[in-house]
Amino acid sequence: MQVIYNNSMISFKQILRLNAAGHPTGWINYETAVKLYHLGQIAYECGSSTTQIRGGINRLTGLRSTLDINSIIATNSSHKLDYSSFTPSLNNTTLFMRDANTCLYCGDKFTHKHLSRDHIIPLSLGGEDIWTNVATACRRCNNLKGGRTPEDAKMMLVAVPFSPSRVEYLILRGRTILADQMEFLISHISKNSPLLARYKIT
Ligand SMILES: [Zn+2]
Repeated sequence: MQVIYNNSMISFKQILRLNAAGHPTGWINYETAVKLYHLGQIAYECGSSTTQIRGGINRLTGLRSTLDINSIIATNSSHKLDYSSFTPSLNNTTLFMRDANTCLYCGDKFTHKHLSRDHIIPLSLGGEDIWTNVATACRRCNNLKGGRTPEDAKMMLVAVPFSPSRVEYLILRGRTILADQMEFLISHISKNSPLLARYKIT
């Protein structure tokens, strides 16, 4: 168990929130988790790790208040999530993470500042700005390809661009994902997910 005092460290860690049915709904910070515990909104806990938050000292009892926060908490919310029609918003940060910071044309890895969003079918040729038509490309490859399709440019993609599912998106957007949180999320993604191979879980 980790112990965290009420300080700024807390904001670096994330708790995985589930709905009452056990489906992951998002990441929350410790402040939000503490509120949910105090409001009695926790339906159940299912992580294997906890962090103890230590608050102030009670003037009457002289005892320090503590709260054990589980790494994965299900809340009593009843709203249903539509998993089939979920499409995460497209932004470069998540796109580059989807493609593991790898240029999908030359296959090399780059830092974010050397990467760009390539439209596989260029916008000028009627291509759309959607997950399945965008690829992470290094600036050199993007310039080489120009306003052409991969076929015309004779530049083939090294991976198939996909639209992340709700759970894949949570994995891509997680900052520091704990082992038990990752195990839980991985158990909720498709067996065909490209992320499975990346995290070397069979
Ligand atoms: Zn490249």
